[in-house]
Amino acid sequence: MSLVIAIDGPAASGKGTLAKRLATHYGLPHLDTGLLYRAVAFLLLQAGDSLDDTEAAIRAAENLSARHLTDSRLRDRAMGEAASRISTVPEVREALLAWQRRFAADPAGAVLDGRDIGTVVCPSASVKLFITASAQERARRRHRELASRGESSTLEGILADIEARDARDSSRSAAPLRMADDAVKLDTTELDAAAAFDEARAIVERARATIG
Ligand code: C5P
Repeated sequence: MSLVIAIDGPAASGKGTLAKRLATHYGLPHLDTGLLYRAVAFLLLQAGDSLDDTEAAIRAAENLSARHLTDSRLRDRAMGEAASRISTVPEVREALLAWQRRFAADPAGAVLDGRDIGTVVCPSASVKLFITASAQERARRRHRELASRGESSTLEGILADIEARDARDSSRSAAPLRMADDAVKLDTTELDAAAAFDEARAIVERARATIG
């Protein structure tokens, strides 16, 4: 029986760390779907195209391959913002959908994290988690992460970024950030990564017990 774990949530909610841990624990492949959107934005910017050039964004999404996902610059702060802008284009999302579904079709199952995994990419996932945390706590985490990568930023600037990104991701008409009706919400504001993992694993185990 394949185990597909869909993890959604806003920026810096801890879903990426959690997804990696769950994937390792269950021996499943993991796809950080935000990287796909970041890579499309990166390809556009590298080619000197504008983020508003919809045709160029669609072409970049259609030509995306796994080798585009490994550049460490994809994790830069500016790329999160750029990804959020191009991810509003329905044709970009459509071009990336088949890829994500192929990944999720692995016979063993898979762990995918993003914004629309439980609602659009894998609506029949075995288990769906929606990870949240307060905007302040998410800003603190992102600030620490960027500092550890040598990127300087202010906490206020990061908080403003996060709030703007939440608003754009939740209000767009194509596959907005939304908790699926059958997802389980996990608020990690007061949890460290280990405690969040323990809670998430308990949720996955309950789901596995019911699907048999
Ligand atoms: O998760 P991450 O911060 O890397 O995602 C970057 C941006 O890509 C998000 O702000 C969102 O706009 C977009 N995204 C999306 N759907 C996904 C994953 C990411 O629209 N499944």
